[in-house]
Amino acid sequence: MGVWAAESKFNSLRGTLRAGEPPTVETADGRRVEVDGDDQVRGVLRDKRVIGGEVEVLGQLDPKGVFQAAPIHENPLFMHRGGNRLYVTYWCDICAIRTRTPGICWCCREDTELDLRDRKD
Ligand SMILES: [Zn+2]
Repeated sequence: MGVWAAESKFNSLRGTLRAGEPPTVETADGRRVEVDGDDQVRGVLRDKRVIGGEVEVLGQLDPKGVFQAAPIHENPLFMHRGGNRLYVTYWCDICAIRTRTPGICWCCREDTELDLRDRKD
């Protein structure tokens, strides 16, 4: 089971992340698709540092037309920058702790930084 196999069970939604409740992804052809997911996914979708960027979400469209992101442990969230597809992670420089959702570091209680990476760990 490589990366390809792990991702193949999900569809991909790519476009510009727009703020709102719920947040939406605006695709290249101008469609706006509502996106949702687990609590950690929701945190990323509401991060001001991610909003307005080109994102890719892996998941499935539900019957209501909402794109449900895969659980955070499936690494469903990417940003596209400079031709690269980057995993969305958050990093505490003080503790060298990496998380998947924005917020304060559980160790030192400082804010974590958005840290886009070309590999997931
Ligand atoms: Zn810390």
